[in-house]
Amino acid sequence: MKFLVDSMLGKLARFLRIFGYDTLYANDLVDFFKMDPVPDEKLLAFAKKTNRFVITKDYPFYKSFTENTIYLRGEGVYNYLNQLKETLRLNFKFNIQNARCSICNSKMKKVKEKSDIKHLVLRETFNQYNDFYQCLNLQCKKVYWKGSHIDDIENRLGSNSIQD
Ligand SMILES: [Zn+2]
Repeated sequence: MKFLVDSMLGKLARFLRIFGYDTLYANDLVDFFKMDPVPDEKLLAFAKKTNRFVITKDYPFYKSFTENTIYLRGEGVYNYLNQLKETLRLNFKFNIQNARCSICNSKMKKVKEKSDIKHLVLRETFNQYNDFYQCLNLQCKKVYWKGSHIDDIENRLGSNSIQD
């Protein structure tokens, strides 16, 4: 399942990528379309062409194109993730085989030699963790680690957290 996330939902786009969902963010398409903001019709056509659900908080947008568009209510990224979990049965478990870079949506690889990324993370982080992952996009190469941050996200999205 692939997504195109409307503007205002950048944090949601980053979370979906971490959990392995191929996700484009509307604001990242500004250069591609050379229009800012990218008009709704363009976004929708792009989503259809690339087989993506559109996720939006914009009710008029949703009303005009209900097909393959998901409308999110309220505020807050955990609330949004829970709505998606509910509606689309998404699974939010971190798995490096699927995980994507939160910045650029590329796949990641496990870092074989920890020393290779020493210059890219804080010393405390380097000392505290042993497993690091890196974005495969050579223009990006962002480094990740499964520290308390991902654990915290998983806990907050545990089975008891679905609320209407
Ligand atoms: Zn990246």
